[in-house]
Amino acid sequence: MKNINISLLAKPNIRSLRAYHAEEVPCKVKLDANESPYSGARVKKILQTLNRYPDPEAKQLRKIIAEGSRVKPENILHGNGSDELIYYLITTFGGPVLYPVPTFSMYGIIAQALGEKKIEVPLDNKFDLDIEKILAAIKRYKPKLIFLSSPNNPTGNCFSSDRILKIVEFTYSLPPTPYSLVVIDEAYQPFSKTKSFVPLLGKYGNLLVLRTLSKIGLAGLRLGFLIAGESVISEVNKVRLPFNVNSLSQAVAVEALKDKKQMRRHISSIISERKRLLAEMRKIEGITPYPSDANFVLFKVNNAEKVYNGLLRKGVLIRNMTGAVKDCLRVTAGTPGENTVFLKALREVINSEN
Ligand code: PMP
Repeated sequence: MKNINISLLAKPNIRSLRAYHAEEVPCKVKLDANESPYSGARVKKILQTLNRYPDPEAKQLRKIIAEGSRVKPENILHGNGSDELIYYLITTFGGPVLYPVPTFSMYGIIAQALGEKKIEVPLDNKFDLDIEKILAAIKRYKPKLIFLSSPNNPTGNCFSSDRILKIVEFTYSLPPTPYSLVVIDEAYQPFSKTKSFVPLLGKYGNLLVLRTLSKIGLAGLRLGFLIAGESVISEVNKVRLPFNVNSLSQAVAVEALKDKKQMRRHISSIISERKRLLAEMRKIEGITPYPSDANFVLFKVNNAEKVYNGLLRKGVLIRNMTGAVKDCLRVTAGTPGENTVFLKALREVINSEN
């Protein structure tokens, strides 16, 4: 791997910043952090140390995530959901921020909130990356950050790995230092057959990966992880708020991640339910479901508003995506029972249309 200076990519105000450092000093009497010495009998039953600030570095949790991803804890940054890490990335490196559309809306929302330029490149007609257009936009706008959600939300498909690699290699080869960091958002990767990009981090210093616990049963904890080279992590860590992940989330995640078997069982069930949803939806005339590598299915209907409201009247809430993809709705794979209720309601709503 060539030696690239990540610090030069950071915004000047970040380059000169030093990360907040909360030192952990072993002691008998802890009177340094303006905490209360008391919590309360009920909360103590949940966690002994709720009167204390959380571990700012989430050491135990990062260690477990690092082991699972076969990287070092120094390659992991913890976030209050991956949303927060997207915020931190754009705060650190600035724009232009390039991403294909339609995709996860937060890339654009955060870029705009932080006053950074957005470069939106439409996907091709198979919802894959339009490689020519993206490479042209990279040359033209020299984006600091490129976000690629693969599998992509809301389309559900993975982008072709060779197209992603082309983008990574192209940006990596640009002299004198790559001017673009490529972030692969793997929020839905556990549901996909495509391999994670984490093993390639050692090869490309401008490649970053985002993961989250939100899609695998722990959305309420708000926990996401940035996996990247140490120099990227230490730059982004400067803008991280000191106690961004609370003690309860850290403790619950550490416990939950010990039961990998159960997690894998749940993921398998969701994958087979997604397959069933797709197969059953293909049989319904008048709708077009798209193949998915994620935990949801995007589908096209004649009248999205009508179908959405019809389902809601039957108590089934899905997502109306018409703003992002014309005439499209998105359904998340639930339990087998929930999916059966959805499929029945969908058939009835579509039939009543005809
Ligand atoms: N990336 C993608 C592609 C997503 O769809 C989502 C959630 N909808 C996120 C990131 C954010 O996840 P988190 O809950 O970890 O903030």
